[in-house]
Amino acid sequence: GGLVVAMDGPSGSGKSSVSRGVARALGLRYLDTGAMYRAMTWWMLQQGLDLADPAALAARCGEPAITSGTDPDAPTIHVDGSDVAGPIRSTEVTAAVSAVAAVPEVRARLVAMQREIIGAGDIVVEGRDIGTVVAPDATAKIYLTASAEARAQRRSAELAGTTVEAQQAAMARRDTLDSTRKTDPLSMADGAVELDTTSLTLDEVIDAVLGVVKE
Ligand code: C5P
Repeated sequence: GGLVVAMDGPSGSGKSSVSRGVARALGLRYLDTGAMYRAMTWWMLQQGLDLADPAALAARCGEPAITSGTDPDAPTIHVDGSDVAGPIRSTEVTAAVSAVAAVPEVRARLVAMQREIIGAGDIVVEGRDIGTVVAPDATAKIYLTASAEARAQRRSAELAGTTVEAQQAAMARRDTLDSTRKTDPLSMADGAVELDTTSLTLDEVIDAVLGVVKE
């Protein structure tokens, strides 16, 4: 089968830029699974669903058609044909996504869609559970980390109108929810290579990942 690179780690660890850079360097496709959880969350908010009611989310999560474009130079995400790339990055969706991602039925549906997209491979897949659950047979598994300060700094540089402190508090809250949920919490996969990106440039991290893939 083709190459599958599993890229896991917490928010702000640099996963997206690194994954896209690696996909570009190797001529692979790219899948952002976080965008799929965000798209599901955007749709549920749009429907006016109570995100504190997991049974309601489980009952409705089969309805939206979520499609992901896998070109690393121009990744896309649509819900029922609408481009939601902008809205899924809103603070409202970001604050709500961990609750939606904790619902087992939501995870089962999105994991099945992700495996279908991965298909025969030739893809870099970014997420929280790729090496552990989605693609345990991946060719290479990377676990990116960075200090809390570095992660918050990167996120607030991407987003206008937030302070590093506010960003660090919001990220800490989301990390806690993501790493303590009962279904497939964020954890390092067996055989994963941990890379601390705190004091590395983007190109240095991409080179390190390319080194792991070539091993
Ligand atoms: O990576 P990103 O910050 O866009 O992910 C948004 C949220 O989606 C995460 O905080 C997590 O709750 C969820 N997620 C997940 N499993 C994945 C990818 C993302 O639970 N594979």
